[in-house]
Amino acid sequence: MARDESCVFCKITSGQLPCTRVAESLHAFCFMDINPIAVGHALVVPRQHYETVMEMPLEEAADMFRLAVRVGPALREVVAAEGLNILQNNGRCAGQVVGHVHVHLIPRRTGDGLRWPWPATKADPKELARLAEKVISQLEGL
Ligand code: AMP
Ligand code: ZN
Repeated sequence: MARDESCVFCKITSGQLPCTRVAESLHAFCFMDINPIAVGHALVVPRQHYETVMEMPLEEAADMFRLAVRVGPALREVVAAEGLNILQNNGRCAGQVVGHVHVHLIPRRTGDGLRWPWPATKADPKELARLAEKVISQLEGL
C-alpha cells in the first residue's frame, strides 16, 4: 500500500489518526470533514496515496467515485438537504490544500449562502471550436 508518512489522510486511512468513519470500499474510504462548510460535509479518499486524481489508476478512481455517488445521496437524505455538491480539487491553485486525493460531498440547500467566486465569461464560438480540436488531437495522441 503506497502511503506518505507525513500525509494526514494516509494517517486516517491507516488508522493512525482518528476520524468519523462513514463507509469504505476496496480502494476508498469515506469520513466526515473535520471543518465542514455545511452540515453533513464528508470526504471520500483513496486508500493509497495519490496527490491528484490524474495519477490514480482508473479502477481505483472509479471505485472512489462509486463510493462518493453511493454515500452522497444518503448524506443528503440524513441532513434533509435539497442538493449535493460532489467536488474534487487538483492542485493548490485549484483549491487543493491536502495533497492526498479527496472528493468533497457537500449537502446543499437553497439560500445556504455557499457560492463559487467564479465569474463566467462569454465564449467566442470559434475559440471554443479551436480548443476542442486541440483537445481531440491530444486525446488521439494518447
Ligand atoms: P481541500 O481544501 O480540497 O484540500 O480540502 C481538504 C479538506 O480536508 C478540508 O475540507 C478540511 O476541513 C479537511 N480535513 C483536513 N484535515 C482533516 C481531518 N483530520 N479530518 C477530517 N477532515 C480533514
Ligand atoms: Zn496520503
